[in-house]
Amino acid sequence: MKADAKAKLTVSAIQRFCMRDGPGVRTTVFLKGCPLRCKWCHNPETQNASPELLYYAKKCLNCQACLACEQGAHSFSEGRHHIDKSKCVSCFKCAGICPSSALQISGKVMTVEEICSEAEKDLAFYGESGGITLSGGEPLFQPAAVDLLLRCREKGLNTVLDTCGYFPPELLAPAVAATDLFLWDIKDTDDERHKKFTGVSNKTILENLRKADELGAIIKLRFILVNGVNSDERHYEKCAGLCRSIRSGVKPEVIPYHAFGGVKSEFLLKRGGGRSEWIPTEEQLAQFREYLGI
Ligand code: SF4
Ligand code: SF4
Repeated sequence: MKADAKAKLTVSAIQRFCMRDGPGVRTTVFLKGCPLRCKWCHNPETQNASPELLYYAKKCLNCQACLACEQGAHSFSEGRHHIDKSKCVSCFKCAGICPSSALQISGKVMTVEEICSEAEKDLAFYGESGGITLSGGEPLFQPAAVDLLLRCREKGLNTVLDTCGYFPPELLAPAVAATDLFLWDIKDTDDERHKKFTGVSNKTILENLRKADELGAIIKLRFILVNGVNSDERHYEKCAGLCRSIRSGVKPEVIPYHAFGGVKSEFLLKRGGGRSEWIPTEEQLAQFREYLGI
């Protein structure tokens, strides 16, 4: 299968010199769009597939230039800046005139070739193991992510796919063929809790995982630990069982909940915020790791 280098993807951000998104030094491409709505999401700016407005209140100069918005989404009273996101039609005129970058756009449409070229700029730093990592959001929410993996492969880059596992099964075989390592994030083995906290069942995720393993994918399972949500021994046991069931698994990882996603929600003008009571204790992390044998 040959990559379509002209296929387009909506990119939230490209981060260079990442050390935690797979082996070696990596360029991580965050793609927009996700079928899940995890209440603890670390990257809420990637959930929506379309470009959207971000507002960084600390950078705002209160210059009122954004009153130029034809929809009347911006207003000022008693020295405070208010934004009515329900009026915003995402024309991004205000972001273009904001002098302090308090208003920014999350989401840039780029071709597969353009993204690949960005990753190639750091070729000298990748060494034998580094390369490109696709993250999100769910990278496969945009099927052209497979073209991006293929194109990177054609150029000799090591490819990692950070996935929540929820994607159409027809994308699985081409994704496996173009990916050196899957970072497969498991949110919860309890389906009712999975539905409650992510908005979807875990059945598709676990079925895709089983099939990816059958197809020979190299998989690193990553378990999100959220205190009071999935911090119970029954879940730890099932996770250990999942690790044992993977034939080509590499050492799994426990990822503790952190509250930064909540801060990002504020930039998106969404309600919510981080929940400090969800941060797991060191004892919980150690107990979970013991079940996983890591
Ligand atoms: S244009 Fe930018 S700096 Fe000026 S008030 Fe609007 S958001 Fe703040
Ligand atoms: S993006 Fe456009 S519609 Fe939305 S607030 Fe800015 S100027 Fe108004």
